[in-house]
Amino acid sequence: MKNRIIDWARDKFRRPKKTAQASCNVITRADHTISREQISPNALRVLYRLKDAGYAAFLVGGGVRDILLGCQPKDFDVATDAHPEAIRELFRNSRIIGRRFRLVHVFFQNEIIEVSTFRANVIEETRTIKNSDTGMIFRDNTYGTIEEDAWRRDFTVNALYYNIADFSVVDYMNGMYDLKHRLIRMIGDPTQRYHEDPVRLLRAIRLSAKLKFDVESETETTLKSLSHLLQHVATSRLYDECLKLFFCGHASLTYQKLLHYRYMDALFPQTMSVLQTQKNKTYEKLILLAMDATDARIQSDNNVNPAFLLAVLLWPVLQDQMSKMKNKKDKFFFRLFQMISDIIKTQVDAMMIPKRLQFAIQAIWILQFQLEKRRKSRIYNTFQHRYFRAAFDFMGLRVQAGEMSPECFNWWEKFQSVNADEKQKMIEVLK
Ligand code: ATP
Ligand code: MG
Repeated sequence: MKNRIIDWARDKFRRPKKTAQASCNVITRADHTISREQISPNALRVLYRLKDAGYAAFLVGGGVRDILLGCQPKDFDVATDAHPEAIRELFRNSRIIGRRFRLVHVFFQNEIIEVSTFRANVIEETRTIKNSDTGMIFRDNTYGTIEEDAWRRDFTVNALYYNIADFSVVDYMNGMYDLKHRLIRMIGDPTQRYHEDPVRLLRAIRLSAKLKFDVESETETTLKSLSHLLQHVATSRLYDECLKLFFCGHASLTYQKLLHYRYMDALFPQTMSVLQTQKNKTYEKLILLAMDATDARIQSDNNVNPAFLLAVLLWPVLQDQMSKMKNKKDKFFFRLFQMISDIIKTQVDAMMIPKRLQFAIQAIWILQFQLEKRRKSRIYNTFQHRYFRAAFDFMGLRVQAGEMSPECFNWWEKFQSVNADEKQKMIEVLK
């Protein structure tokens, strides 16, 4: 049995076949647009120190891709032939991280530069055994050449290497071609690469939304059929990816692509089941409004609280369950808390949500009922609640989506704008 699994895994995880298109192109400085001015000074410092110590040093990944596209990279990643210990020795302000693959974080005042050693995608026969039925790689801590490093990356546009030694761009995967044609193309066989690490499914969707790129046909066909693989991803990693999906400044488009490729069902199963069974379009509108609001806040450099968006995404579930609640007067809040806790628990089975966010989601929801009730004795309590502002904004979206009339929202809006005497008068005339 053991041998059969090893054989299967060996076959399944062989290195991607090299195709005719995979030859190494070196684009000299005169033929590309990356200038050192566009690279963060800290990343440059890291690159130069590695080079001066005799190592190969390249900027790689989103940093190269985004500069070539004329946008500001989110972060800068460096790849080198120096091993983690050697990198660690070169930078006092660094730390080796990672269990599965060790890489080095070099810390600067407000930036972390991630430095990884070239590595190869290798299966280790004894270790892959336990989890090989999911097709995922569990050990890839094997160093390799720059070419092997390029093969283990996800998409061709993410495998461009900017060489600090001569300022050229090294392209093993025809990434430049795909960049020009605005295509997200998986390196190697898409089915195999998605199985190795199903998070790549979400990365393909996120990148195509962020860059407004098409997904290359084979990469896309496979993407459409593999959403079930997400169940094999650690729920904490899914949460991290979910943040990247919705807080990259392109939440609205990302959400629509997630719907299109049917990935929302894997991430928010309860929500999708309610949206699919109800004919009511209000909740779809509410979610779209929240995505737009998130993008607008990021655009204007405002803080975003993931709990707010999660509260919106799960709100249809709570509403659906509330509509089935009989005898609402009987222990209403007790039953409401129970319902909320069950919904969050079920969601956490699909995707981890940190405890503090669970608490915030619950608070935003409970406040909806308190804002609506406006009990005289609780007005100030509600108003001074830590999550009042989030709950008020949440109600604003519900009004905009047509879920409720604006009367209550307008009352609270006015309440915030008037002085203490006026506030008191507003409370006195409440029923
Ligand atoms: P951005 O930082 O803009 O979100 P990115 O492509 O830089 O996009 P990172 O998560 O910073 O994404 O990863 C840096 C690089 O590491 C990627 O460009 C890719 O080459 C590689 N990489 C990241 N995640 C994976 C993965 N799951 N499988 C293969 N390669 C990956
Ligand atoms: Mg990056």
